[in-house]
Amino acid sequence: MNIAVRTDKVASTQLPDPLDHLAHKLFHHMGTDGVYARTALYEDVIERLTALITRHREAGTETMRFPPVMNRAQLEKSGYLKSFPNLLGCVCGLHGTEREINAAVSRFDAGGDWTTSLSPADLVLSPAACYPVYPIAAARGQLPQGGLRFDVAADCFRREPSRHLDRLQSFRMREYVCIGSPDDVADFRERWMVRAQAIARDLGLVFRVDYASDPFFGRVGQMKAVSQKQQSLKFELLVPLRSEEQATACMSFNYHRDHFGLTWDIKDANGAPAHTGCVAFGMDRLAVAMFHTHGTELAKWPASVRELLGM
Ligand code: ATP
Ligand code: ZN
Ligand code: MG
Repeated sequence: MNIAVRTDKVASTQLPDPLDHLAHKLFHHMGTDGVYARTALYEDVIERLTALITRHREAGTETMRFPPVMNRAQLEKSGYLKSFPNLLGCVCGLHGTEREINAAVSRFDAGGDWTTSLSPADLVLSPAACYPVYPIAAARGQLPQGGLRFDVAADCFRREPSRHLDRLQSFRMREYVCIGSPDDVADFRERWMVRAQAIARDLGLVFRVDYASDPFFGRVGQMKAVSQKQQSLKFELLVPLRSEEQATACMSFNYHRDHFGLTWDIKDANGAPAHTGCVAFGMDRLAVAMFHTHGTELAKWPASVRELLGM
């Protein structure tokens, strides 16, 4: 029976996918599913989408760009391990003495396993772009009236290997973040849900916006997901790339309530724990969606889309 299950799994991972035809135009394989080198054609569209999202940035928004790694203690404190321990990538290194490090390398040279000598560093791979912004905002003290808004981006990592081109392990996320009173955040999310749909329409994408939940880990996680949906804390802009039922989330609109405000002791202008929310753009998913929708010949894209992207 075990064998039957395993053969099934192998077969299903090799099933052709409707996005497969894009692979050779957009990516070069690098030896691991979900980690790809990007072609000039693909990167050009990423840059144009990035510029389009920048043009929609609200006045009074502060820009920060984050590296692909972040402080491990900060992510632990944010509660990530309680929700998505399975997705986290942690930086490890050979931290021993010269003798210990040489021993690990010698083991490898002799055909053995050097990785058993690894130990964790104080870094993790950032799983989303907005985590580092909350402690930075907290260090500035009480929020001004109206709260703060940030434009952040990072190369993100999630350990969810897949052959599907819309589920990468290493991908780029752009976010607008609001930290303020409950009203500041509700208004922010409302504005962005309208604006983001206009952007998707202008890009010629077919989409729907729906209630969503995060991919919480395990059985307790399933309960968290139900409660998140019931409280309308997360919406996604879904593009039906392979099917209507399995549509791809290209953007998400998230309300964290006072989670980060309490975690980082951020006070709003009234002295209450700050509320936070973010709108996240999956840049690689948006680009894949554009190529799937309009084809890989940019000259044949609709005139209005070409104009919007400055082509
Ligand atoms: P999904 O429902 O597909 O698992 P998610 O709900 O976990 O995604 P978020 O945490 O909301 O995603 O991340 C913000 C955005 O980042 C998503 O809307 C998506 O566009 C993008 N994204 C998330 N995971 C991936 C991935 N594995 N590959 C490419 N883009 C991703
Ligand atoms: Zn976020
Ligand atoms: Mg989702």
